[in-house]
Amino acid sequence: MSHSEEAATLKHVDQIISPEWMIPVSSKGKRNVKALTGLSIAINHNKIVAIEPTPRLFKHYTTDSHTELPNQALLPGFVNCHTHAAMSLFKGLSDDLPLMMWLENHIWPAERKWVDDAFCEDGVTLAIAEMLLSGTTCFNDMYFQPNMTAKVAQKLGVRATIGMLMFDFPSAWGSGWEDYLKKGLSLRDDYKHSELLTFAFAPHAPYTVSDEPLSKIATLSNELSLPVHMHVHETAHEIKESLSQHGKRPLKRLQELELVNPNLIAVHVTQLHRNEIETIASHGVSVVHCPQSNMKLASGISPVQDLLTAEINVALGTDGNASNNDLNMFSEMKTASLLSKVYTGSAQACSAADILYSATMGGAKALGMEKLCGSIEVGKAADLTAIDLNTIQAQPLYDPVSQIVYTAGREQVSHVWVNGRLQVENGHLCRLDNSQLISMAKNWRDKIQHSKANA
Ligand SMILES: [Zn+2]
Repeated sequence: MSHSEEAATLKHVDQIISPEWMIPVSSKGKRNVKALTGLSIAINHNKIVAIEPTPRLFKHYTTDSHTELPNQALLPGFVNCHTHAAMSLFKGLSDDLPLMMWLENHIWPAERKWVDDAFCEDGVTLAIAEMLLSGTTCFNDMYFQPNMTAKVAQKLGVRATIGMLMFDFPSAWGSGWEDYLKKGLSLRDDYKHSELLTFAFAPHAPYTVSDEPLSKIATLSNELSLPVHMHVHETAHEIKESLSQHGKRPLKRLQELELVNPNLIAVHVTQLHRNEIETIASHGVSVVHCPQSNMKLASGISPVQDLLTAEINVALGTDGNASNNDLNMFSEMKTASLLSKVYTGSAQACSAADILYSATMGGAKALGMEKLCGSIEVGKAADLTAIDLNTIQAQPLYDPVSQIVYTAGREQVSHVWVNGRLQVENGHLCRLDNSQLISMAKNWRDKIQHSKANA
């Protein structure tokens, strides 16, 4: 073949990335997570079009944008499967209290006073900046003013599932359950052409939403094939209250309301009987494990290894910044693995590979996005995170998967792409200004602290 014939067969693509290691996290097989070397990926129109050994890839593809990442591991961006992004502005406002006391005496009063469009726009912006810098490319949110979460995520180019929030009681977002529902569905309609945003029903919890609206959500989620994102069995107190109010445990009540099915994303789930694990498994429910929030609020421990053994899809989430107090999937992964080992008394519980799978594919599956993201595979969106392993703390490097879960920190995130677009380069945000973000957060701190002091 002549040079000109060779050039004619070369396909031009938007970009090619050549990392030292690639951890594709296959969507096929059982939690398949391994570091591979010598591969490059070609990206065109936001999608991964080829993954091949580097010399072979360059025989077929050419580009004007080639990113070489020596000493770095490229993995699918983290999917943070449970957040209340705007709550970032309440981070550290109130700590060291049990869930109901924390909510009733501190968080709910602060929310009644402060939460509006402006608060949520700034809070979500701060949260997205923190998540991108920590390698997260997709988040599943539930909070007031989801219109602002959608607006900011879309503007900044981040993938998100926006929770169509619902409570029985009124808030800055809705006057009652019918109003929440109407506003949520209309917001979903506003973004029906978005490549980045999807929507989920988000009834807050069994103890804040009554039977009639839950039943309505069950019907609609089935008709529209939309996930239902909900706090479920977060604490022993929740179970006790449900037994006295409804005469049954919350999961049983949800089952009777026909919400226990593959659309359900059950968050926390720290209180489970053996037969409830079987119910969750046989109905295809996804569980979101939020170990740091559960530990900080002393809510309990989710039996994650038992869930994995029962073939239940487990995703990982940080919860809101006010009960964690960060949006850092690296520390969440390490905590999840270590906590499971202590809880089960088995050092084999929740391996590094298991938990890296949960932090990526597990989240994508829970959100119904398993064909779109969560792994590096041809045809999927280019949602990618590169981690620098050429640091003192990463040496010596025997196994990148172990190093990422047990040793690495988010300061090692060097590059992040969402839908093929570069969002973090050499550890710096490409589309947001650090000093502006810090002064915005300080302004909110001054206002909120001043009013707390005068309360
Ligand atoms: Zn939560």
